[in-house]
Amino acid sequence: MALVSVKQALLAAQAGGYALPLFDTFDMAATDGMFQAFEAKRAHACIGLYGGFFERPNARANVAYIRECAATAKVPVSLMLDHGASFEQCVLAISLGFTDVMFDGSRLPLEENIAQTRLVVRAAHAVGVAVEAELGHVGSGREYQSFGAKRLGFTDPAAVERFVAETGVDFLAVAIGTAHGVYQGEPQLDLDLLREIRRRVEIPLVMHGGSGLSDAQFRGAIEAGIAKVNVATELFMTSAQRITEAARARELSYFDISRIAATTFQERCGFYIDLFGAAGRV
Ligand SMILES: [Zn+2]
Repeated sequence: MALVSVKQALLAAQAGGYALPLFDTFDMAATDGMFQAFEAKRAHACIGLYGGFFERPNARANVAYIRECAATAKVPVSLMLDHGASFEQCVLAISLGFTDVMFDGSRLPLEENIAQTRLVVRAAHAVGVAVEAELGHVGSGREYQSFGAKRLGFTDPAAVERFVAETGVDFLAVAIGTAHGVYQGEPQLDLDLLREIRRRVEIPLVMHGGSGLSDAQFRGAIEAGIAKVNVATELFMTSAQRITEAARARELSYFDISRIAATTFQERCGFYIDLFGAAGRV
């Protein structure tokens, strides 16, 4: 299938009370495992490439590989720039064929975040690409006790309507107590804040920092209005753990390492697809 924007699939998820996962890939083994999971579960494939890795040549190679896999995939595939760092990076991603871009202006003052997001939206919408932005700031799990656990960076619900109206953004990533990477301590989510944001705007809401939440926390966030959940760290950590365990037990070939990575991605991505209610939707 051809690559398609994730927008219609996210609107369907929002209406249906389930969520789509976005999984970040870094190499072909991870991508292979994801595609096996999306196809086995009959789920819309939403794959992210992280903006921080985007200047390397393998970003372009990854795009080409994902496009090849999508051409023969039995499910629709969306390719999203994750945490686009600038207007220029978002435009580069669009020129490479990304179907959706996230512009992350969450560290900027509100007015600057609005101004830059609006610019990205204008360029993206001119060529049919959907845009995700972030209001509030989802911090790092390493700093969780001094940041997220203290409610620093949380999305201000009073700013949400204006941000969405003035930027024209398609999806909004919110900060409600999650963090990127490994959590220091237990994550605490503010689902009342999420419900309030949900009441104020119509567009699909996105939760970053999925690695390390409990199944009940995922379900609660989806029930309270999250339509897309980004997961990356847990997939890479579990794959590394399984490769390490296998290497302690026996001598591994290079091919064993790729195979363990791919099968771990398939299993863990399948787990999230089921948990979020995204299986069997396409
Ligand atoms: Zn993120």
